[in-house]
Amino acid sequence: MLTRRTALSLLAGSLALTCSLMPASAQAPEKLKVVATFSILGDLVRNVGGDRVELTTLVGPNGDAHVYAPTPADARRLTEAKVVFTNGLKFEGWIDRLVKSSGTKAARIEASKGIKTLKEEGHGHGHDHGHGGTDPHAWQSVGNAKVYVANIRDALIAADAEGKAAYEANAASYLAKLDALEAEMKSLVAGIPNDRRKIITSHDAFRYFEDAYGIEFVSPQGVSTESEASAKDVARIIQQIKREKVSAVFVENVSDVRLMERIAQETGAKVGEKVYSDALSEPNGPAGTYIDMMRHNIRAFSAAMSS
Ligand SMILES: [Zn+2]
Repeated sequence: MLTRRTALSLLAGSLALTCSLMPASAQAPEKLKVVATFSILGDLVRNVGGDRVELTTLVGPNGDAHVYAPTPADARRLTEAKVVFTNGLKFEGWIDRLVKSSGTKAARIEASKGIKTLKEEGHGHGHDHGHGGTDPHAWQSVGNAKVYVANIRDALIAADAEGKAAYEANAASYLAKLDALEAEMKSLVAGIPNDRRKIITSHDAFRYFEDAYGIEFVSPQGVSTESEASAKDVARIIQQIKREKVSAVFVENVSDVRLMERIAQETGAKVGEKVYSDALSEPNGPAGTYIDMMRHNIRAFSAAMSS
């Protein structure tokens, strides 16, 4: 029978052995587990969080967050997270139920908080798509993305005070990149004749872009991909393209290409390069980051309007 003392010293010995076998990285401070609901937001969180966060993005590249169906694995990720970042503005119609079913205690942060919202009204549609009348695609203006970044920075500091200096430095350097991006976009738009600044896209995802950069967008489908374009809306757009001699129509990576191909066929307009509205491309694609996405879109639009 072991004496109490022998048992303790055996225990201490095995603890010492365990510790000495642990790799150095396991002793580093644990990363802050955070979740972002979709790829564009995930990229902003990654830029501010850097090495201190372990990020999971729920709706990945080319995924449609309007109509996403969460999985049991998503619920587990929420349970483990300390912070959950959402776009808000009713973009993620599925998030309330997911948060509830996961039982997560994570802080829930709406990254769009504080932006000046635009009403969902379309160009003469007037019908509501059940999204409470607010257009959720606020990230399509770089000015709004800067608000997202500030909200992300503040939320990460609140959850991980030790990282304050790192989050502030990351945010400041990323905000400077966003300023440079926006200057580049504005100078591209300035080179397009005023009367040509009109773009047709399949779903109404670019109204913040329109508001910020002075290009007019027209779409047969509303702000959510959930609802289909009505025959009346399609006919209206076909007439408008013919009347105003619009040269190209665009399809977003989350939309069905067939409707726009039909519109192109009936009007003689070209189908322009694929653009990215609600999700990034794969990392090695043309829109693997938020900055690359905005740059790709403005170049595609301006090429079509200038030619
Ligand atoms: Zn959308």
